[in-house]
Amino acid sequence: MNRFDYIRPATAAEAIAAAAQPGSAYLAAGTNLVDLMKTGAARPERLVDITRLPGLDRIDWSPGGGARIGALVRNSDLAYDPAVRRAFPAVAEALLSGASPQLRNAATLGGNLLQRTRCAYFFDTASACNRRAPGAGCDAREGENRLHAILGWSEACIATHPSDVCVSLVALDAVVEIEGPDGAREIPLEALHRLPGDAPDQETALAAGELIVAVRLPPQAAAVASHARYLKIRERTSYAFAVVSAAAGLDLDGTTIRQARLALGGVAAKPWRARAAESVLEGAPADAATFARAAEAALAEARPSGDNAFKIELARRLIVRALSDALAGTPGQPPALPASPFAAPAGARHVA
Ligand SMILES: Cc1cc2nc3c(=O)[nH]c(=O)nc-3n(C[C@H](O)[C@H](O)[C@H](O)COP(=O)(O)OP(=O)(O)OC[C@H]3O[C@@H](n4cnc5c(N)ncnc54)[C@H](O)[C@@H]3O)c2cc1C
Ligand code: SF4
Repeated sequence: MNRFDYIRPATAAEAIAAAAQPGSAYLAAGTNLVDLMKTGAARPERLVDITRLPGLDRIDWSPGGGARIGALVRNSDLAYDPAVRRAFPAVAEALLSGASPQLRNAATLGGNLLQRTRCAYFFDTASACNRRAPGAGCDAREGENRLHAILGWSEACIATHPSDVCVSLVALDAVVEIEGPDGAREIPLEALHRLPGDAPDQETALAAGELIVAVRLPPQAAAVASHARYLKIRERTSYAFAVVSAAAGLDLDGTTIRQARLALGGVAAKPWRARAAESVLEGAPADAATFARAAEAALAEARPSGDNAFKIELARRLIVRALSDALAGTPGQPPALPASPFAAPAGARHVA
């Protein structure tokens, strides 16, 4: 680990002023940043510890039912908040499918949004990686790439974004509140992460020193609360990142879909809102044929970036399963194994 300065400002203004200096990085719980510092993949000269900043660890509700979630709210606190579970169950399910209980107790929402890719070559400083060292090349292109991107990738980088909760949040039109050296602003979460293009090192829309202070979920996002799921295919049944994941929400008018929300994880360098699929779903009957057409639309642009063509079919099937499970209704309690697609879908019969 390289030498670095450590400071712990008392106010957001002090933190922003400190982090605006070149070579600075915000430190939240450090569950991702400190790992990267240990391998040398991240080498900040100054850590600006934000964990004691006042007011960022609260969940506030608007009179209309929207939530404002502070950037320092811990993943566990958010997942187990009863009001969040009621209004935005797919957010809770996504959080509970991630990492381990110990990590969730520490990790913050802001840090989860800004966690870096899990591409092994990004972590390994002996490997060529355009995201870590612009112009170096991309060892993943000819290397171990079965878990890499199938949407939005470029020749420069085929990495995926690993967050689970981002997928549900993007499906629900979450907004990110930011404070920085030039004042406060807000952007849709969908616009926070960048696709790699020819500059994969530019991972987000944040400028130097900008601090995420909160994430807002609009009241309208609760319209799908009674038919919402997050499903995640992983290589182990727990404590593993998504190979492919899907957040699905339906607002029904009888058997017709009034409004649909669909986003994918593990497929691109950002949480992937499947808007073409939502257009197929809205106004259509809520049935298997519609769900299959939506899955086709969601993956129309997908292409393998390596040994990962299987992820396209996997994603197609997961979308159908997530929509079918959402149609069956949000479980009263989070499932014993949150986000697992291996529970039998409601109404399914096993035929030997
Ligand atoms: C073994 C393991 C398994 C995991 N499995 C999963 C999983 O299955 N699903 C999943 O989603 N995640 C998973 N994670 C990732 C984990 O959720 C993240 O490490 C965590 O959410 C990051 O939060 P943090 O507070 O520790 O952030 P930190 O590590 O402190 O920071 C992460 C990044 O965000 C920046 N940052 C933090 N807060 C802010 C802010 N408010 N404004 C601006 N910048 C900020 C930091 O500078 C840093 O670049 C796993 C992690 C580990 C170690
Ligand atoms: S896929 Fe992206 S993160 Fe991975 S080695 Fe290539 S450039 Fe680096």
